[in-house]
Amino acid sequence: VGDTAPEALTDGFHLLIDALKLNGVETIYNVPGIPITDLGRYAQGEGIRVLSFRHEQSAGYAAAAAGFLTKKPGICMTVSAPGFLNGLTALAHATTNCWPMILISGSSEREIVDLQQGDYEEMDQLAIARPHAKAAYRILHAEDIGIGVARAIRSAVSGRPGGVYLDIPGALLGQTMDALEGAKSLVKVVDPAPAHFPGPDAVARAVDVLKGAKKPLIILGKGAAYAQADDTVKRLVETLGFPYLPMSMAKGLLPDNHPQCASAARSLVLKEADTVFLIGARLNWLLGHGKGRQWGTEPKNFVQIDIEPKEMDSNQGIAAPLVGDIESCCTALLDAIGDGWQKPSEDWTGAVRAKVETNVGKMASRLHNNSNPMDYHAALGVLKQAIADRPDAVLVNEGANALDLTRSVVDIAKPRKRLDVGTWGIMGIGMGSAVAAAVETGCPVLAVEGDSAFGFCGMEIETICRYKLPVTIVIMNNNGIYRGDDVNRSGGSDPATTVFVPDARYDMMMQAFGGKGVHVTTPDELARAVAEAMDSGTPTLINAVIDPKAGKESGNIGSLNPTSVVAEM
Ligand code: ADP
Ligand code: MG
Repeated sequence: VGDTAPEALTDGFHLLIDALKLNGVETIYNVPGIPITDLGRYAQGEGIRVLSFRHEQSAGYAAAAAGFLTKKPGICMTVSAPGFLNGLTALAHATTNCWPMILISGSSEREIVDLQQGDYEEMDQLAIARPHAKAAYRILHAEDIGIGVARAIRSAVSGRPGGVYLDIPGALLGQTMDALEGAKSLVKVVDPAPAHFPGPDAVARAVDVLKGAKKPLIILGKGAAYAQADDTVKRLVETLGFPYLPMSMAKGLLPDNHPQCASAARSLVLKEADTVFLIGARLNWLLGHGKGRQWGTEPKNFVQIDIEPKEMDSNQGIAAPLVGDIESCCTALLDAIGDGWQKPSEDWTGAVRAKVETNVGKMASRLHNNSNPMDYHAALGVLKQAIADRPDAVLVNEGANALDLTRSVVDIAKPRKRLDVGTWGIMGIGMGSAVAAAVETGCPVLAVEGDSAFGFCGMEIETICRYKLPVTIVIMNNNGIYRGDDVNRSGGSDPATTVFVPDARYDMMMQAFGGKGVHVTTPDELARAVAEAMDSGTPTLINAVIDPKAGKESGNIGSLNPTSVVAEM
């Protein structure tokens, strides 16, 4: 450094913070420790909102959810080896869900790690992250920080979004360079997620297939919600006049009570449709890979919009692939269709509508019962109303029965107001997602949690209380995983493998951190507690006692459990 005065210097810490700020990063989801403790402090000092969690996995889930909600990479920051590995689950989850996220982890001395000489928290993190991320980079020199951050941001948000790992050896942070040179080395990413337009032939082909449909169906996926092309998607769906099914995080893209919404007639439309138009949804396990009993015997023509060309024909042949971003593809289709579109016949749309009305009617009667102990439906009748009264609130949801039943009962009226377990069906996203929802949207958050799911992330209620976030947590407490009435098959005195301490007082955990904890056993008590919590914005945990006999194994996906022929003999 020679004679350079200290004020003319910058260092790795500040270059990294400046590079993030230059690219619009406002929030970091963090767990401090060696070597990134000061990085978090300085970032906070420079005006970035740094939220520190109790566990990296929740910080990572928050960053992933932030990516989905904002279309910008959510940033998670962790320590080396174990902290990095904890955050990696969330990075892989973001990649699997096609959400932009950057995991920034400190790492140990490269020279020691590479010779495997046993450094503090030694691990070759870059190699481990690579297969779980869309891209993975390491920065070794202060003058490369600007380019390294630019590459991470562009990789996360362009094309199909995903998780990016950025490896920051501790030694990099302390490296110094001339402040002016440093400022010049930073890169503001121009047009990080460029539009992808579909070709005219592809558009014409898609219009042809859609025109030929007698019993068409649209499936909206969370890619369509992510794209923030809300008005265009709505215009296309309404112009076409097809019944549509929203995948769980696409709920609210059009309001769930929309006359074309076929959620309550899911079995009918999947079986009988002759043409299925996928918009930002994959034909993966969540849709039975587009085949099997639920899809019936009617041969299907598929039309699909996706930004990722390799997604086409992944499970079924796609008759009309439209590769491009949702906004550009939907606009191109609307332009090609023009004014004279012939909506599908009333035979089809009327039959779907009739089925929806019958099923909604059947469900309504189940939602108002006074069974004692309370069942899921009685509790969900209350929560459905709480969300209907507060359409700006974000619903976070995880569990087995607590997930499946909430998804089908609670209507969502606006886009990106539902965060859940995503493509993996992962448990433990609840509290991280709730923090991100509150921080990124400023709206009240209702987290509906199975008691098991809550256990994977429950310590973050301290985080929620510390930052005084407007989060209401309702624990559907049925004393166990799936059901709370399982028995030890050996007849031994240990509890069954799937049950918890009966009548656990999760509400008292919340009180320990200064939040509000409420114990409820009836729908009326639940309604009062939820209204007070959501309207006051006070961090609140409501322990809703649910019948241990309510619910079923693995919720709606019990068929995915392998069965033992031998054990049942
Ligand atoms: P769901 O689980 O709701 O069905 P998926 O996660 O399976 O949704 O599918 C989302 C799809 O959306 C992914 O294949 C992804 O490539 C695609 N996608 C994400 N963002 C965009 C975008 N802006 N434009 C087009 N497709 C997108
Ligand atoms: Mg349970």
